Amino acid sequence: MNYETIKIEKVETACPACEEYAEKHFTNPPRIAVMACEGACAKGEVARMAANLITHQLARENTVRICPGGAFTKDTGQRNLVRMANKTIAVEGCFISCSSRMMKGVLPDLCPVIVQADTLYESSLPFGIDEVPEEELRECARVVAANIVAEHIKKPAATGKTITKKEPTAKNTKSSCCGN
Ligand code: SF4
Repeated sequence: MNYETIKIEKVETACPACEEYAEKHFTNPPRIAVMACEGACAKGEVARMAANLITHQLARENTVRICPGGAFTKDTGQRNLVRMANKTIAVEGCFISCSSRMMKGVLPDLCPVIVQADTLYESSLPFGIDEVPEEELRECARVVAANIVAEHIKKPAATGKTITKKEPTAKNTKSSCCGN
């Protein structure tokens, strides 16, 4: 495995809303932490919407929403939520798996369940979210969220797997994160 070394400027400040949310949800036993690609493209938007659906509607009692940017760039409440979670689910927009790779950069022992969202819906989405009807994005997110809740939140046995519905290809194949 090759690694890229990055240098992040440390900040002394923190986002109050983010920290307040983290404190409120810092429970014992810890919940399931859900993070997502927060990227700019339509696939990233679907992943983000699915993570929000899971944590704020479908499984709000069992999950907490992680901000990868906050948890990755500073060692405060959001990163602690991931540290303390009994399971972390990464809803990835595409095979790049940005959220899980980022978090493993600061928490090397992290072993998230990686769900490659774009393999769970039929739509072939472009980069620009302005090219896709809002309802199509929502429907894709609903499919992804429902799958994750059924497979990884209501069914506690499954861990550490990449979920793909399509046949694996060079584009969508992703090995289990726990395999390292
Ligand atoms: S290209 Fe991939 S990593 Fe980038 S925003 Fe889209 S889904 Fe996320």
